[in-house]
Amino acid sequence: MFLVCLLIFILSLSLIFFLWLRKKINLARLDNATRQTAKSSFPAPLESNNRHEFDSSQLLQTYFRGLSYVLANETDKAVAEFIKVARVNSTTAEIYLALGQLFRNSGEMERAIRVHRDILLRQNLPEDIRQRTFFEIGLDYAKAGLFDRACRTFEEILGHNPKNHAARLELVSLYEKTREWEKALQLFENVPSADKHNNIIAHLHTEVAKTAILNGDREKAVTFFHRALQLDENCIDAWLHYGDLLLSDGLFEEALAKWNKAFVLNPDLVSLLINRFTKLGPENQARAEKDFFIRHAQGYSNNNHFKMAYIGWLINSGNFEQAGEALQELMSKKTGDRDIFSLMQKLLTALTQKGRGEGQLYQELIRNFFSTQLRFEKNYRCRKCGYRLEIMLWKCPRCSTWDSITVI
Ligand SMILES: [Zn+2]
Repeated sequence: MFLVCLLIFILSLSLIFFLWLRKKINLARLDNATRQTAKSSFPAPLESNNRHEFDSSQLLQTYFRGLSYVLANETDKAVAEFIKVARVNSTTAEIYLALGQLFRNSGEMERAIRVHRDILLRQNLPEDIRQRTFFEIGLDYAKAGLFDRACRTFEEILGHNPKNHAARLELVSLYEKTREWEKALQLFENVPSADKHNNIIAHLHTEVAKTAILNGDREKAVTFFHRALQLDENCIDAWLHYGDLLLSDGLFEEALAKWNKAFVLNPDLVSLLINRFTKLGPENQARAEKDFFIRHAQGYSNNNHFKMAYIGWLINSGNFEQAGEALQELMSKKTGDRDIFSLMQKLLTALTQKGRGEGQLYQELIRNFFSTQLRFEKNYRCRKCGYRLEIMLWKCPRCSTWDSITVI
């Protein structure tokens, strides 16, 4: 039902657009400048005689055909149809804007940029169309990887109209890509409240703090970590890196306390914490791990990610029987993944090194594992778009959502 309504809506819009288009055609008075700019991107507009041959019903058909190709995601065919319409009515900037978008979506960046630039060369171009065209050019540059030019374009749009929030969001996204975190933060703090989320502002603060650490500016880093955690006390990345900073100052206990906050917020990400224990030096590492696992073994026994880290620790500390039992129990609950495989390998290696014969006991387990359970899959996934990745990121590389990545 919804689809039918949508279709009727699209068709009505198309009809209105067509009527408007036809009126434009009747009024078409191409000046020389327009002719020249149109020539540079497309074959010249059809001569007036030919234009009459391409009558209204043909135009309507062509337009609908183009539209149906757009809906069917057949960009090449849509472009071909729209070029026909644009030839008949080359004064219609809207058609060129649509064409430029199609070129961009199909990855033909040079053509997209050329089409959009041509629109700007027109005389008497309405201001709203001029601004929309600049916006499209900014998107073209960004997609072509010309980030400097894209930034300059959106900066100009904002300079002209500070309330252009779409341009503001595009610029934030570009500053994030180019890792200009302070600029991103400054802009993002002024977006309308509907788009402004504290978790994102906290991440941007955290990134500023991380850059400050790299630049040796400890004080600034602390300030930004504090602000990040005031804005969003669930910002795991801030807790982890704040802990790192404290550790570099030799403050072991304080660092551990911050890391522990991160663990409690999301125990699935326990590996981020365990990897950090190695930075403590052998003696402190052993003590910190023991404290950590003994303290949490009961409370998090149902969390498979914690359990795997726990088994790793049991093996490291020579508790092979306990590790083997825990591993078998885990395999009965969780379908195989490479982390279990790594643990099994670790256990067998440790047993062999100690000259112990229990390795035999696990042969059956390994056969079972290889034949039925082993799946080499990526460990993390975006909740929003389903993208899978090997490492933990706080922003999805595909759909650009913050805090959407989760451990599988
Ligand atoms: Zn995503």
